[in-house]
This record gives sequence, structure tokens and C-alpha cells, in this order.
Amino acid sequence: MQRYFANKVNENIILGDGDVHHLLHVMRAKKGDEIETVADNKLYACIIDSLSPLVIKVNYEIPTDSELNEDVTLFFALAKGEKIDFVVQKATELGANKIVLLKTERCVVKFDDKTLSHKLERFEKIAKEASEQSHRLRIPEIVGVVDLKNIPSELLSDINLVAYEKEAGCTDSLFSNVNKGKSVSIMIGPEGGFSEEEVNLLTSKYNFRRVSLGKRILRTETAAVYALSVIGALLEK
Ligand code: SAH
Repeated sequence: MQRYFANKVNENIILGDGDVHHLLHVMRAKKGDEIETVADNKLYACIIDSLSPLVIKVNYEIPTDSELNEDVTLFFALAKGEKIDFVVQKATELGANKIVLLKTERCVVKFDDKTLSHKLERFEKIAKEASEQSHRLRIPEIVGVVDLKNIPSELLSDINLVAYEKEAGCTDSLFSNVNKGKSVSIMIGPEGGFSEEEVNLLTSKYNFRRVSLGKRILRTETAAVYALSVIGALLEK
């Protein structure tokens, strides 16, 4: 069944303009049709009470559990081409609650303010659609761009991990650092990797732990998907 993120005001559901268009002109909804909406992190079975004006009423709440038990934040260094689009979509499917776009020494991509605001809009749309598709109750927040040298403390988690390629194959892997009951941040570097100074700063200033993602060097987008898959499996086991 079609599912939309929405706002709930008393027993009425208010959809955004894009979703109203989708419901009326793409789905060709009729009076009496049922839809599912997610508002305030809850899933509702709703009924279309009238088309003009559009009135959608809550029928009942559907108990559901599709979120990770802990907050997971992905710090992802600005990568080239469509990689950020891909990672925003996959990170959303894999349950991340926050995606922080990160500027590091070796990032080749730079956004001016105008491009950034367009890009953020695009990433937010991708996250919303991926949340709907994966039946999530939350849309991850996209934060950016944050400089690695200046990370606001509210973005940090109980456990903060940096995937460092020079740790590849070492024993301090994700598996030994993710614990149930603790929020976790995982940081992935750009195509050119992290400098030693950056990793030292992360460990000394913000208390990050460096971790390995296994013996092979993964591309930045693969590393993000791998790390979030492992974290999800550990939190859900
Ligand atoms: N150009 C670098 C690799 C960068 S890979 C080199 O050749 O060494 C991009 C990012 O993915 C890294 O900064 C790191 O965050 C992550 N990554 C990839 N493979 C990894 C591994 N085996 N262990 C830890 N992190 C890894």
C-alpha cells in the first residue's frame, strides 16, 4: 500500500504538496481509498474522506517496528559524482538516523553555498523516498557540510568510530566496538583516504576509535554500506 510521510493535526493527516500531487494525479486516489501515513514516528492506516478539498482521516495506528534500537550517525566525506546520492539512499535503507557530510583534507569535491543548498534539498528528497520505500518511521536528518577539524559535539554519539584504511585487517574491527544500548557514529573517508594527522585529531580531540573494515580496501561508498550493514546486524542481533 502507498505510504507517505505526513503531519498529523488531531485526527487529520496533512500531506506535503508533492505527495498530494502523487496521491491525486499519479495514484488517482478516490474517496474512500485507504493509504498509510507516517507522522510523529508512528504508522497510521488512513482513509480518504474527501477529494476536494482533500481530507485524510486517521483510521487506526498500526503497531510497527522498523527502526534500529540505537541512533546511528554516518559521517561521510564529500565524494565525487553520484556517490553521495547512492550513500544517502543506502544509509537510509540501512537505518541511519543522521548523515553528516564531511569536509576533509583530501576531499576533491567542493560545494559553494548555492550548490550546497540545492544538493541538500536533493539528498533530503532521496532520504525521504528511501525511508518510504524501506518502510521506516523516520527520515534521517542530513547535516552538512561539517569540517573534520570542527565537529559540533551534538553530532557525536556514545561510541565514535573512524574507519581508517591503514587499520585494514587489524583486530580492532567494528565487531568489537558496537554495543547494544549505545548510540554509534561511524566516519568514512574520501577516495584519497584520511591523513594521519586527521585520524590523530579525531582520536585525541573527539575520542574517536579507529577501526578496520576488514582486510581489503573498500571504495568509499562500499565502506559506508559495509559499515552500516555490520552495525545494523550487531544492534539487531
Ligand atoms: N585511497 C586510500 C583508500 C581510501 S578508501 C588507500 O588507497 O589507502 C575510502 C575510505 O573507506 C577510507 O578513508 C576509510 O574510511 C574506508 N575504508 C575502506 N576500506 C577500509 C578498510 N579495510 N578498513 C577501514 N576503513 C576502510
